[in-house]
Amino acid sequence: MGLEEKLPSGFLLTTVEKAVGWARKNSVWPATFGLACCAIELMATGGPKHDLARFGMERASATPRQADLMIVAGRVSQKMAPVVRRIYDQMAEPKWVIAMGVCASSGGMFNNYAVVQGVDHIVPVDVYLPGCPPRPEMLIDAIVKLHDKIQNMKFGAHRAAQLEELERRALRTLPLIEQGAGK
Ligand code: SF4
Repeated sequence: MGLEEKLPSGFLLTTVEKAVGWARKNSVWPATFGLACCAIELMATGGPKHDLARFGMERASATPRQADLMIVAGRVSQKMAPVVRRIYDQMAEPKWVIAMGVCASSGGMFNNYAVVQGVDHIVPVDVYLPGCPPRPEMLIDAIVKLHDKIQNMKFGAHRAAQLEELERRALRTLPLIEQGAGK
């Protein structure tokens, strides 16, 4: 459009959506959270070798109210499922979920009545990460993919529609799990 020639040097043009996306993706705070063996790899990712701090993510929050990323590291038992959902509900909006490892993603080798067959039965999942256990490099790859998603996230009704789609499965299964856990 020739706009660049008319602007003095030192000006940067962007949209509010892109600027907010950039700020959000560089300040994701994970909830302190680990359910099984995958959590060891999650802890290793925060160590000096892999250095989550370069993404601004070294501050793992001990309270869900100051966290906006849930990394589900490990299999989720039926008993634990309502607790995981409560933590998710208490997290600050907008919030994201990574299912870390085959157990969190699909139940993995625990194909039985005691384990939730995929954490997307109870919370909306943004990124699925395969592997048993996934190495820290794989988790970092999932985080970078989540960053892309956050950067390109639409505001308002678009995100609401996206969440509704992700939540559909969870809303169908969660009441059944809660009934079972309450027995
Ligand atoms: S995917 Fe493997 S390492 Fe992770 S919780 Fe399941 S059994 Fe453990």
